Formats: sequence, structure tokens, C-alpha cells
Amino acid sequence: MTTLMRNYVNGEWITTGRTFPTLNPVDGSHVADVSEADQDTVDRAVKAARAAMDGAWGKLTAAERSALLHKVADGIEARFDEFLEAEVADTGHSYPHARAIDIPRGAANFRIFADLIKAYPNEAYEMAAPEGGAVLNYSHRRPLGVVAVIAPWDLPLLLLSWKVAPAMAAGNAVIAKPSEETPATATLLAEVMAEAGVPPGAFNLIHGFGPNSAGEFLTTHPGIDGITFTGESHTGTIIMKAAAERVKPVSFELGGKNPGIVFADCDFDAAVDGIAKAAFSNGGQICMCTERVYVERPIFDKFVAALKRKAEALVPGRPADPGVDMPPMISAEHRDKVLSYYRLAVGEGATVVTGGGVPQFGDERDEGFFVQPTIWTGLGDTARICREEIFGPCCHVAPFDSEDEVIARANDTHYGLCASIWTQNLARGHRVAHAVQAGLVWVNSWYLRDLRTPFGGVKMSGIGREGGMHSLNFYSEPSNICVKF
Ligand code: NAD
Repeated sequence: MTTLMRNYVNGEWITTGRTFPTLNPVDGSHVADVSEADQDTVDRAVKAARAAMDGAWGKLTAAERSALLHKVADGIEARFDEFLEAEVADTGHSYPHARAIDIPRGAANFRIFADLIKAYPNEAYEMAAPEGGAVLNYSHRRPLGVVAVIAPWDLPLLLLSWKVAPAMAAGNAVIAKPSEETPATATLLAEVMAEAGVPPGAFNLIHGFGPNSAGEFLTTHPGIDGITFTGESHTGTIIMKAAAERVKPVSFELGGKNPGIVFADCDFDAAVDGIAKAAFSNGGQICMCTERVYVERPIFDKFVAALKRKAEALVPGRPADPGVDMPPMISAEHRDKVLSYYRLAVGEGATVVTGGGVPQFGDERDEGFFVQPTIWTGLGDTARICREEIFGPCCHVAPFDSEDEVIARANDTHYGLCASIWTQNLARGHRVAHAVQAGLVWVNSWYLRDLRTPFGGVKMSGIGREGGMHSLNFYSEPSNICVKF
């Protein structure tokens, strides 16, 4: 029997006249049909969210919301295996990856914001009044109201809950739209919200695409008070125009073309390992992945050879295959986009160090959306594959001769999400980290991050910061209350 994933609006499951299928990227098989939200469904979701703000949800204290969000985290953990299977079927992620990252981070996102909202401080200042007496100014934080959450497909539950959890902790009612490629764990999350006792309308889920579908209906809706979006920079420009019409706040986590900078004085093995993870983890389908690698000339040849060995040791395959660490691309469309860059690299004159094509399995995986991990050398920084985000398991490696040169080359991009620096000279590590234009810079590491720290990009990689109190700042607005006494 085919599963039908439905929209969740005002505590009810809603189907519409239209459905679309989701496919398992490992073998192209059919996973489920999904009910596509139409304008009427989105209108109902906005109305329900507004009513929740004016009703039961809006009346809860921060401590009561915190308790509910802990219950949501409990619910994810209680149904861990269902979430795991759903995420794996939608994404093709390996079980170790989904077990260690995708699902635990979904629960952790609810826990951290459930705890932080209870410690969220208000400011207070006392000043003398000119006519005598004193004035107390203090900030009173209110939720934005009805918040639209739009998420991508690379880490579906993790990235959706990264926004839903703080938005709800701050007291907003949420309308969440997962990617059309990966609707399954968001649908389970709606079930968990209901089981946890979240009042109707406080969390709504709509399914669909972007243009002329649920995404556009939601972001252009006059009843939305704020938009939080993770996805491509180009999509961000469209959503920002929609928000500008009504002067609504946006928080954007967008694309990147992240540099990895390897100095000759690095711990060589750690740097090779770190860059290999940064380039190839999750098939290069994480916004923080590295597609531009700069290596100081004395170790360039040795580094490229070592990275090649790492790439060729990666195991593509089914989520449960032993040692698998190279998932497929999310869709045939995305695989074709990545392969078009593989062809472009050759057309631009790159040396293909390894990869550049599609692995052959001789079984059902040949119907899936796999590509080979790929390394190029030999191109200048103006080549399109060195400038445009590919979002696949690939990187270009180029030599450099000086610190100033590599900083200038790392910054010569419209993007600025993150970067990694590999050196044993800590003074240099700090110096270069300050000079690189990115929202997050790692020195001798990659991907590690305390969830309380700011996360976001500069330039076309985003607007605003999320993480810890930074998230709560976006999802609430302070009023200044000024009391004379
Ligand atoms: P995408 O922009 O195509 O889609 C993201 C979401 O936006 C989906 O839910 C989609 O349906 C919706 N959408 C698309 N067009 C829309 C429109 N016109 N109006 C409203 N909604 C619309 O991105 P993607 O392909 O799903 O994800 C990959 C991208 O996300 C990459 O660029 C990656 O770097 C970026 N990303 C960034 C971060 C970060 O934290 N900075 C994290 C993960 C992914």
C-alpha cells in the first residue's frame, strides 16, 4: 500500500486534490505520495496559527512551552527508529550517519531551545528623570507571531527543527514547509507534536514545492509575520522580495563556496582527513562542505595524492551496506546538475585527479542517483567550478605561495558561509581566521560547533545569525517599557 503524507493544519490531517511522489535516491524506487498544499490549505494554516497565538498557545508561559518542547524531544527519541527509517528512505543517508547526526540533532534542537528560553534575559536600565525621580527602562520580549519555516533536503529533520524549535520556544506559531524531496520526518514530527499535546495551530505542516506551490503561497501570504529560510541563495533573493513587500523580518541560511586553506606547517594527516570530510561528507551535500581547497605549494603534490587516496577509498552504496560513506545525490535532477559541473570542469580544462563520472554497481543502485567523488586541479580561480556552488562530492585543489595571497583568493567570492584553516602555527590560525570573510571559521577542525554559538553567513550566504540566544533574538522582538517612579 502506498503511504500518503498529509498536511497538518490546526491539529488536523488535510489532503488536497494533488499529490506528488517521493523517490528513494539509492535506487529510484517510489517511497510515498505527498499531498501538495494549495492556496486554501495555506490560508487555513495561517488562520489556525493566528488563532493559536490569540488562544491556548499564546497564553502559555515560557516554562510551559519549555516543558512541551521537551516532550517533543522525548517523542522523537521514543520513535527514534521510525524517524531513522523515514530519513534514510528519503535521503539515502547511511544508517551510521542518520543514527549519529540526523535524528539525535532533531531531538537535541528541541531540548536546547526548551532550556534556553527559560534563561532568556531581559535588559533593564535605570536613569534619573530631568524633573526628578527616576525612570526604569526594561525590555519586554514578544514573539513575532506567525512564522514561516522553509527547509531544504540535505539534513531534513536537523535543519527544519533548528528553526521550528527556537521559533516555538520564543512563543511563535509555526507553519513549516519541508523540502518536496524529503517530507517524511517532518510528517512524523507533526505526529509527535500532536502526541506531546502541542495546542492545535501552534505547529502546522504544509507540503509542496517552491514557485506556484506551498513555498510561494506561504512566503507571499499577508498573514505571515516573519520568514526563516534555509536553501539556495537564489531562492533567498526571491523570498526576500516577497518579504520586502510587507517589510517582514527574514533569517536566511544560504549557499556557500567554502574554502579550505592548508598551510605547509599543518598536521598533514589531520588536514587530509579534515579536508576529505569537508569535501565528501554526505556526498558533499552539506552547506558547510568545502569545494575550494588551497594548499601551500611545498606540500601541494603530496596533499593531492593523499586526498585522492581518501576519495577513492569512499564506499558508495545502500544505507545499510558495511562501511558505506558515500550516499547518492538527493534526486535525478540534482545528480544531473552535479554531472553537468563534472563535464564543465573538463571543458574548462581541469585535470581530473579522480572521479568525474558515475559509479557502476551492476544492480538496482544503477537506478539510483550516485556520482563519483571527484577532485580537480589545474584551473584558475575564475573558472565556474571554482565560483559556483555545486553541492556535490567534489573539490578543486589549487596551490598558493603566501598568506596574503590565499586570504585574498579565499575571499574572492560572493559567498561567505564558512572556511577551514589547517596550520600548527596558532597565531597564524587566528590571524587568517579574522581575515577570512565567513560566518564560521574552523582552525584544525571542521563541522564542530556548540549549538549556542552564532551560525550564519556573510555576503550571499545569509542574513542574520541563528544558534542559542541568537535564534531567540530573531524569533522575538523587544519592546522598551519605560516606567517613571
Ligand atoms: P532550495 O532553495 O531549492 O529549496 C529550499 C526550500 O525552499 C525547499 O523547501 C523549496 O521547496 C523551497 N523553495 C524553493 N523555491 C521557493 C520559492 N520561490 N518560494 C518559497 N520557497 C521556495 O534549496 P535546496 O536545493 O533544497 O537546498 C540546497 C541549498 O541549501 C544549497 O544551496 C545549500 O548550500 C543550502 N543550505 C544552506 C544551509 C545553511 O545553513 N547556510 C544549510 C543547508 C543547505
